[in-house]
Amino acid sequence: MTPLSLIYQLAKDQGFQLVKVATAQKLAAEKIAYLQWLEKNHHGEMHYLSRDPAKRTDPDKILPGAKSIILVALNYYQDSPDMIKVARYAKAKPDYHTVFEKKLQELQKKLTEHFSSIEAKFYVDYGPLMERPYAAQASMGFIGKNTLLITKEFGSWVVLGEIITTLDLVPEPAEKHGSCGSCRRCLDICPTGALKDNYDLDSNLCISYLTIEYKGSIPVNLRKKIGTWLFGCDLCQEVCPHNSRAKAYSPAQWQDISIQPDLTNTAYLGSLDFLKRILSIATDEEFKSFFANTPFLRAKRTGLIRNACIVAGNLKDASLLPYLKALINDSSLLIKEHAQWAVEELVSVEN
Ligand code: SF4
Repeated sequence: MTPLSLIYQLAKDQGFQLVKVATAQKLAAEKIAYLQWLEKNHHGEMHYLSRDPAKRTDPDKILPGAKSIILVALNYYQDSPDMIKVARYAKAKPDYHTVFEKKLQELQKKLTEHFSSIEAKFYVDYGPLMERPYAAQASMGFIGKNTLLITKEFGSWVVLGEIITTLDLVPEPAEKHGSCGSCRRCLDICPTGALKDNYDLDSNLCISYLTIEYKGSIPVNLRKKIGTWLFGCDLCQEVCPHNSRAKAYSPAQWQDISIQPDLTNTAYLGSLDFLKRILSIATDEEFKSFFANTPFLRAKRTGLIRNACIVAGNLKDASLLPYLKALINDSSLLIKEHAQWAVEELVSVEN
C-alpha cells in the first residue's frame, strides 16, 4: 500500500467521505486577495481573521517543516423545507467542530503510529489555514462564486478539516471538477447583496455572519431581508446547480456526540414551537443546557433570541406577540430592542 492509499484508508476508517492531499506550499495569489478582503473590512467583527494573515497561506508558519496537507470532508446535506430556517450544517446535528476534532485526533494518532518521525497538527475551520484553496488545489472541488468549495460528490454541502504534516506525500495528479461559468444564481438570490462579482463576500451583509458571528444590533434595513433564517443561511447553496446532485447525509457519521433529543427532530426545529421555546429561554444557563454540544451555542442566548425576534417580526404570527412583549422587559438591551421592533411589526399587521 502506498503512503497515499494508506492515508485515504485511515481517513475513511474515521468516517470521512472525502480525503485528498495537497502540497504544503505558500499561496501567493490567495494571500493578495485575502489582504485586500481584510482591507475592505469584509471580515466584519471577526477580528481573529485579521490576526497574523501570513499564516493563512503559509503552512510552514503553522508547522515548521510542513510538507503536506491532508484534507477531509463530511457531507451534511438534508432536505429542509421549513417555516423557521436553520442552516443545514446546524440542523439536528451536534457541533461539527466537536465531531471533527474527535475524528481528526484519531486520524492524527494513527498517522503518527504509521509514520513515527513525523509531526502533524489538525484543524477544523477555526484554524489559521485557508483550507478551501488547498482543498481546490488537491482536486477536492473548485471554489464557486459563493466562495464555497464545490465538490463533485456532494456539491458544496460539506464541512472541511485538515491535518498539516511534515510527512512528504506526493498528491494525486490535479483533476478539474467544473466551474461556475457564466452562472450567477447565488449572487442574484442573496437578499442582502453580500456576494460580490469577484468571488468576494462582504460578511457585514451576510445572513450567516449576522445571525451567528455578529453580536450587535442587526441593522434595521437588513431585518426584513433576513426573512425566517433563524441561524445561518443556505440560500447561495440552495440555488447552485452543482448542488442538484446533493445526497442526504449519513447521521451515523455525526452521532459520536449526543444532543438534547428535541434538537434531533427536524420537524420541531422548523416549527413555531421551536421559535417559542427560544423566545422563552430566561437565562444563559438554560440556554447552554438546552443547546449543549450544538452549533447554536455560538450565537449565545442574546444573539439567538435577537434572531428569533427578527424571524417573529417577519412571520407576523399573532401567537408570538405575548412572547415578544415579555422580552421587552429582558435585562439585555439587545433583546429588548429587537423584541420592540418585532412587536411593532406584528402590531402593524393587526391594525
Ligand atoms: Fe457558481 Fe452558480 Fe453555484 Fe454561484 S450558484 S457557486 S455562480 S455555479
